[in-house]
Amino acid sequence: MAIHRAERHSDDYYVYPGATDRALRRYRAFTLPPGRRPRCPQDAQCSCRGCSFDDVRHARDVLDEVLRALPPRARAELGRRVAVLDAAYLRCTLPDPFADRRQWRADRWWRRRLAGGWEGA
Ligand SMILES: [Zn+2]
Repeated sequence: MAIHRAERHSDDYYVYPGATDRALRRYRAFTLPPGRRPRCPQDAQCSCRGCSFDDVRHARDVLDEVLRALPPRARAELGRRVAVLDAAYLRCTLPDPFADRRQWRADRWWRRRLAGGWEGA
């Protein structure tokens, strides 16, 4: 399968066999259950490839990396699944008006959301 091939051949430390699945589950879990209170991504305490998923933005980074590596058809397929989660992520987080100043890699839209305080429903 294209995703497994992309994971196996990636030279990104954070992309490894199973990482896409883990990223999808992490990303989905962040948005569930749908609730009224906004959620905030939080920094991971450790930067290893396991703990990094504590930060939901890292999960989106991994998905971005994998999407770039996929051939068109597989990219479109995974892209549709990610788009659904993107929409949910946008609904349950708030924009950070000072993202350029205080968010790491603020060029990525999913890192331009208020972060730090509280994650949960
Ligand atoms: Zn760790």
